[in-house]
Amino acid sequence: MNIVVGYILTFLGGSGLFYSFVTIKTDHSHTWRSPFTTFETTIMVVCILSLIVLVAGIMIIIFSVVKKKNQDMLNKLSGTVDNVPKASVCPNCGLNVSPNLKQCPRCNCMLSNNRGVINNGKNNY
Ligand SMILES: [Zn+2]
Repeated sequence: MNIVVGYILTFLGGSGLFYSFVTIKTDHSHTWRSPFTTFETTIMVVCILSLIVLVAGIMIIIFSVVKKKNQDMLNKLSGTVDNVPKASVCPNCGLNVSPNLKQCPRCNCMLSNNRGVINNGKNNY
């Protein structure tokens, strides 16, 4: 979902709603009462569709904003959380190793090259 789509839908829905309301208010050649003419039905359908599009647009904007906020929060969280698992994962074979190990038990690669291992001596699990 793109926030631009939300803005476009909100704009379209808003102008459609505005147009149909203005038409109903200013067009006195129609009764706007049952039985409806084709024109009146069309305007009313436009009005309802515009309302749906407007609500959908607003929802997309809200969802995009909320999603973006969540994503920012997730990025922040994973930014802090990422350092810990990376510190205890072998850079060569991906094996989970204790951060205080200097050598990977599986592939014997030196873990001291991994700065995460060096700066994080404590096991945070
Ligand atoms: Zn390894």
